[in-house]
Amino acid sequence: MTHYGLIGYPLEHSRSKVYFTKKFAEEHLDADYQLYPLSQIEELEKLRKEIRLRGLNVTMPYKEAVIEYLDEVDEAAKEIGAVNVIRFADNGQAKGYNTDYIGFRDSLVPLLGERDRKALILGSGGAAKAVEYALRELAIEPTIVSRSKERGIRYDELTKDMVEGHSLIINATPLGMVPNSDKKPPFPYEWIPKAHLLYDLIYAPEETLFLQEGLKRGCRVKNGTDMLIGQAEAAWRIWNR
Ligand code: NAP
Repeated sequence: MTHYGLIGYPLEHSRSKVYFTKKFAEEHLDADYQLYPLSQIEELEKLRKEIRLRGLNVTMPYKEAVIEYLDEVDEAAKEIGAVNVIRFADNGQAKGYNTDYIGFRDSLVPLLGERDRKALILGSGGAAKAVEYALRELAIEPTIVSRSKERGIRYDELTKDMVEGHSLIINATPLGMVPNSDKKPPFPYEWIPKAHLLYDLIYAPEETLFLQEGLKRGCRVKNGTDMLIGQAEAAWRIWNR
């Protein structure tokens, strides 16, 4: 049997186990997918010794911290600074990849129009960095909007011209995700014109308050479900190389 799994902490809200278990059953594969909640990333060493794994997914809060535990890191993941997939070679060597950017990019492309050339990314964490990388690949100019000024601009520095001039607005914060579905990023929604596209990386709930602000104004909207499926399928391709 081939073993796969997910590391992170806590893992109660993960959909990966359900996704891959269903996939293995449908494809009649002798494989299993388990959740490995690690209270500290150091526990990864022990897990590797105990179970001969083929692949792992990595989620919050270890996407960045896991890098120093790997033998090799793919170029895109290195540039993004975050790993969400690990592939173990037959000799046990671990290589890290980022498939969040692939899932995001491939789900965004079918929605893009000619005028979608500039984007505002809300948040500056690991997911925001993957989104930034994907947008650059698509020749879309990204600007990070953050609570602090370390990267990009602050929410209170946004002007009406800026909001109107960026037809893509992407929520890469956890604001609005269950159980905090009554929250949304502190963005000046009243300035968003009808033709804009609002993309939320969150997939639970399917329609966040952020997306509702777009729907109210007749904007195009997209939630994180297709990104989630895209990143999982890209991981599967990597594990089967
Ligand atoms: P994170 O590191 O915990 O947070 C991302 C950023 O959000 C932070 O760096 C912060 O940016 C901002 N933020 C956090 N709390 C905030 C608050 N209370 N008010 C305003 N801003 C806040 O999370 P992440 O790993 O990047 O993930 C972000 C979201 O994307 C999560 O909801 C995650 O579930 C989702 N995600 C979805 C997929 C998918 O496949 N659909 C894949 C990856 C991630 P500043 O400090 O700069 O403000």
